[in-house]
Amino acid sequence: MSLANGRRYLAIPGPAVIPDRVLAAMHRSAPDIYGGALPETVATLWPDLRRLAGTQGHVAIYIANGHGAWEAANSNLFSRGDRALVLATGRFGHGWAESLASRGVAVDLLDFGRSTAADPGRLEEALRADHMHRIRAVLLSHVDTASSVRNDIAAMRAALDAAGHPALLAVDAIASLGCDEMRMDEWGVDLLVGASQKGLMVPPGLGLLWISDRAVARCAESDLRTPYWDWRPRIAAHEFWMHWNGTAPTHHLFGLRESLDMIFEEGLVMVWARHAALARTVWAAFAAWGEGNPDIALNIEDTARRAHAVTAARLGAPHASRLREWLEREAGVTLGIGLGMAAPSEPAWHGFLRVAHMGHVNAHMVLGVLAAMQAGMEALGIPHGPGGLEAAARAVARTA
Ligand SMILES: *Cc1c(COP(=O)(O)O)cnc(C)c1O
Repeated sequence: MSLANGRRYLAIPGPAVIPDRVLAAMHRSAPDIYGGALPETVATLWPDLRRLAGTQGHVAIYIANGHGAWEAANSNLFSRGDRALVLATGRFGHGWAESLASRGVAVDLLDFGRSTAADPGRLEEALRADHMHRIRAVLLSHVDTASSVRNDIAAMRAALDAAGHPALLAVDAIASLGCDEMRMDEWGVDLLVGASQKGLMVPPGLGLLWISDRAVARCAESDLRTPYWDWRPRIAAHEFWMHWNGTAPTHHLFGLRESLDMIFEEGLVMVWARHAALARTVWAAFAAWGEGNPDIALNIEDTARRAHAVTAARLGAPHASRLREWLEREAGVTLGIGLGMAAPSEPAWHGFLRVAHMGHVNAHMVLGVLAAMQAGMEALGIPHGPGGLEAAARAVARTA
């Protein structure tokens, strides 16, 4: 017998749960792209997207996933032969670096490993060593979804300023937007990268850029641009079609309108607080399970540097893989694989997993996942400390 039937829960860090309200908003016949509801709706998106990121800057939306949004950023920031400094704190930092290198950008990589945040001191040192100011931009993930580290973006800006270096600061907030606090202008970010399918609760298909005036001015002559990725006509658009360099992503835009309504109805600060509380609930369970079981541990030790959107954890090989399979088969919940913590061919690969808690997620969903995980550990004989569910329930009780 399996207890998996009923509403399934995909608890992987993207695509995230899509609210029924978003699905319903997208359920319509093809809209006119020359007038009517679509252009009227889109006109209301721009101010709310600025509010979401905490910026007065420009916004461009591409029909693309996150990898496409990286290319949008790369194409506008750089010219052939320019130098970039990438701070890697997990698989996604390396991914962005690879995407840059493939376009002929010279990449300096500061690798902070898989379980610690980027160190502003090392950034400042690297920038001071660049006497000729050849580094055009510093790039990093806000939350690296593979390691579940959350980098301190304001500290990176402070390091740039302390070094007196003019490089632009570009941040991948694909996993964190709508989950973790983001204050683009206050933190001195020049370019912010987002995508629709994580905290924004819309299907994959929209890649978003938020662009400072400084980045627009500094990148006026960048020569990696192609007509599609060029942000200039998009941010200067005076006709609806110019925003898209072709047909608009019609249904996604209605979905995005609905998801932004949901976020601002709850209140952005409350949305961040909900994610923080749910994250602490997950951490509490893992702390109890790991008591006396060194095989079970969260990937990021420093609580201040843990993401609120996703939690990566070690369970020991092959326990993590076996538990993931059991949960999918027996409980109707799918957890994320341990991405970039080991190669799929290595036995260690089976020792990591990720629990997503991004977007349309609440206390009963997270408590349900944790209870199903503990049931799976019981069923599979995976050693774990007692009291994980009590600790999780207490974390929720303290918040509510
Ligand atoms: C998901 C993710 C990406 C990649 O997005 P895709 O839509 O899968 O291309 C990039 N960066 C971060 C931080 C992510 O979480």
